[in-house]
Amino acid sequence: DDIFTKAHAAGKIPVSFEMFPPKGELTLDKAHDAAKKLSAYGPDFISVTCSAGGGGNFTQTAAIASMLESEFNVSSVAHLTCISLTQEGLKERIAQYKAAGVENVLALRGDRPTKDSPLYGAPSDFSFAAQIIPALIEAGFCVGGAAYPEGHIECESLETSIEHLKLKQDAGASFFVTQLFFDNEYCYRFLDLAEKSGITVPITCGIMPFVSKQQITRMVLMCGASLPSPVIKLLAKYDDDPASLAQAGIDYACRQLQDLKEHGVDGLHVYTMNRPSVASAAMQALGR
Ligand code: FAD
Repeated sequence: DDIFTKAHAAGKIPVSFEMFPPKGELTLDKAHDAAKKLSAYGPDFISVTCSAGGGGNFTQTAAIASMLESEFNVSSVAHLTCISLTQEGLKERIAQYKAAGVENVLALRGDRPTKDSPLYGAPSDFSFAAQIIPALIEAGFCVGGAAYPEGHIECESLETSIEHLKLKQDAGASFFVTQLFFDNEYCYRFLDLAEKSGITVPITCGIMPFVSKQQITRMVLMCGASLPSPVIKLLAKYDDDPASLAQAGIDYACRQLQDLKEHGVDGLHVYTMNRPSVASAAMQALGR
């Protein structure tokens, strides 16, 4: 049984968190602390990002995923990006994830390395996430993929983006996690279109609380999510009050989560990053 089947069988909407391998020294100590605090809120799983551009942190991702399972008894999903991988490199990652005991993998293309990244122009045998899914399934992982309620930023239309999503399901993906969005109506429209296009696997909806104007601007420019006017008004209202803005961001995200829950979506994924305060607010809002 995968993580969604288990939660649905128990009659609940799965709630998951996302964390990242901290940068710099004492990385695993810091990760241990974040993993412990996030696990304490009882999520159905925690997913662990990996950096496509930086290249080197697959080891950390696998180690943190393994720590979540063995030490904190929480299911984990390890992200795996393929944009700068060769076939040989993919085999090594698979062996590394297997050795760490990883069971669930989120197959991703990854953000393209920027010009200042050491991986810029590095050889790659893969252009799309769907291309690595068969090898991951063959290796025995339960595999998920990323979905885009407003269409992927490089894709000309939402319909085409959903066709590409379907290719991931056809390749064997058994769940999807969405990109963040600030207007639930976009998500409902997407879920409807995805269903009509033959997507049958669970789609868990990703919500990220905004923290600052700088962070939200960077995020929307990177992923192409729309900023609805209620969010723009909050950014204006608390322009010179960063603490109130961060709180307003958490409150807004909690309202989105409650609304999604009422709509009976397949799952809720909170981009907690390594902030236990976000996990706490989300779980409280969801009555868990
Ligand atoms: P794909 O599914 O491969 O799609 C990439 C683009 O190619 C899209 O425009 C798609 O429409 C198009 N496409 C797909 N198939 C075809 C085809 N056959 N022909 C033509 N075009 C096609 N990035 C990281 O670096 N590390 C992470 O840990 C990470 N975690 C993420 C988690 C989630 C839940 C999400 C939503 C995103 C995450 N990302 C992460 C960002 C992600 O890597 C980027 O959004 C990236 O630009 C696309 O990745 P993908 O796997 O969705 O790509």
